[in-house]
Amino acid sequence: MNVAEKINALREELRLHNYNYYVLDKPTISDYEFDMKLKELQDLEAKHPEFYDESSPTLRVGGMVTKNFETVAHEHRMYSLENSYSKEDLEDWEKRIQRNLGDVPVQFTCELKYDGASISITYENGKLVKAVTRGDGFQGDDVTTNIKTIKSVPLQLKGDYPEKFDIRGEIVLPFEGFQKMNEERIENGEDPYMNPRNTASGSLKLQDSAAVAQRPLECLLYGIVGDNLGIATQFEMLQKAHDWGFKVPTVAKLCKNTEEVMDFVNHWDEHRHDLPYETDGVVVKVNNLQYQDELGYTAKSPRWAMAYKFKAEQASTVLVHISYQVGRTGAITPVANLEPVLLAGTTVKRASLHNADQIEKIDVREGDTVFVEKGGEIIPKIIGVDLSKRPEGSKATKYITECPECGTPLVRKEGDAKHYCPNQYGCPPQITGRIQHFISRKAMDIEGLGGETVELLFKEGLIKDYADLYDLTKEQILPLERMAEKSAENLIKGVADSVNVPFERVLFALGIRYVGETVAKKLAKAYKNIDALMAATMEELVTVDEIGERIAESVVDFFKNEKNLAMVARLKSHGIQFELSAEKLENQTDILKGSTFVVSGVFESVSRDELKKLIEDNGGKVGSSISSKTSYLVAGDKMGPSKRTKAEGLGIPIITEQDFLQMI
Ligand code: AMP
Ligand code: ZN
Repeated sequence: MNVAEKINALREELRLHNYNYYVLDKPTISDYEFDMKLKELQDLEAKHPEFYDESSPTLRVGGMVTKNFETVAHEHRMYSLENSYSKEDLEDWEKRIQRNLGDVPVQFTCELKYDGASISITYENGKLVKAVTRGDGFQGDDVTTNIKTIKSVPLQLKGDYPEKFDIRGEIVLPFEGFQKMNEERIENGEDPYMNPRNTASGSLKLQDSAAVAQRPLECLLYGIVGDNLGIATQFEMLQKAHDWGFKVPTVAKLCKNTEEVMDFVNHWDEHRHDLPYETDGVVVKVNNLQYQDELGYTAKSPRWAMAYKFKAEQASTVLVHISYQVGRTGAITPVANLEPVLLAGTTVKRASLHNADQIEKIDVREGDTVFVEKGGEIIPKIIGVDLSKRPEGSKATKYITECPECGTPLVRKEGDAKHYCPNQYGCPPQITGRIQHFISRKAMDIEGLGGETVELLFKEGLIKDYADLYDLTKEQILPLERMAEKSAENLIKGVADSVNVPFERVLFALGIRYVGETVAKKLAKAYKNIDALMAATMEELVTVDEIGERIAESVVDFFKNEKNLAMVARLKSHGIQFELSAEKLENQTDILKGSTFVVSGVFESVSRDELKKLIEDNGGKVGSSISSKTSYLVAGDKMGPSKRTKAEGLGIPIITEQDFLQMI
């Protein structure tokens, strides 16, 4: 086999495994084997950039950064759907259809209405060429690079597909993945996302496609538009899309009459909580595409389709007591403690009240009978009060003004949704929360020490901050409850071993507000050691990629604080890593600082990704499209003529791969 054949064989094989895993949910090889094959392909492609292919499975990992999403017109308009809320509405619609079409048998396809972000994806000759958000229906944003990272979206179709068509679907974030993302955010001291739908649609507009690739998004498809498709019915369309490699949920049903339609609706109204993703109704469509054509469109929606909206599940119960939780960053969250009530199959005892504004908005009080709703959120929310049941003499809720844990007056900064307890170093849940974050897996990953032990050590007065961990001795901890010789030794060893944890994770472990894992990595890369970072001003910090004012301010504040400075100094004295390792430093320079490069075409001695990495490692920025801010266009073979024209028009220097390598 020659190299080209080998590359093709690997691409084919990886495509098949992707399909088995993400579309069929039936993997046939282990994740490890898959990763090894992907790595092999990546290496081959890097060595042989002449075989670059925009449909290669290696593009799934993302890496392209889009600063501004281009607005593009939809070739075929994306319509809304008319909504119905009752069986009667639905029956009326079906009668109208029948009247319109005359005395012919009409069948319907019933599908679930997936609740996410709409997308239209264009395929030409079996290849994904463009993906555009719905926007206003006439034009949307080009989010192609982000969509390409979603593994259930085929980059290359199989079977007998039309030459060119648009396929419409919904990008969703299944519950399980959503919950995992939120757990990580909470661990990073960030507010959890409110619901899967907004998070899914927000994901499409992330600038860094590698970040999109990390999110467990899925694309569920429901319709095809185009000319000469050779398809006769909606149901056939779903089957064909499935055959070409798309993820099409199999619950869709072909119904012969309205009775069958209602059976489908009733079934899913009851069972939708068994589905892995959010749905908000059923979409009923006239099955025959010719009939669809005859029925046509109103100004906003097709006459041949109707959405039946599920009612959100609600229950009413008594709010017994409002309590307040203090998080590791000091953020206060009010919690409604309820009389237990059954809702969407689970017993609910608590609901989030979010913040003071929310409480005021719905004027909720202790003793009230409240309506609880479970939407996509993991924690149910209170949506209103049954005023007819409000007890006499009830008083409006007074939001707390002091921390329930330490008594310090709360503060609320302009623009913050929540109140905070500012007593960072004296408020128990903040102290233990910070230490728990410090030892957590993605931070210092201290083995032999868990969250409960941290609380115990704090209660016994052995630690007051994370630097104290490094002064602990075996003699001190042995007398603690449930602490045996072996576990004491493990704890001490775990702490000692953490001096090898690399700088970027140490930076994350410090627990600076808004500095999550990714931001910590960017800061470590930009500043290389803690002293440089401590000396950085707001103005300098915001010039770092992805660092906005909010983060910059938080970093500056952190290092202004004497206590934090003392803590860093103590950690340093214990040998914690406060600079990038020699190996990471070696390959990095500042030579290209201040310059933005756009890379286009195919290169000989390096792959496109390597070229981009070289730019970033040397302090430059990679831009996705040419603008007046572009410093250089690095032109490879087969570069599009429009890029060249645009660069020439703006007077941007066009350089070759060799020119670039000379620069560094
Ligand atoms: P609405 O936004 O309420 O007007 O509803 C229309 C949207 O429902 C469309 O833009 C689609 O993105 C979405 N949708 C979800 N599932 C389906 C489906 N099975 N068929 C058609 N549209 C759907
Ligand atoms: Zn407090």
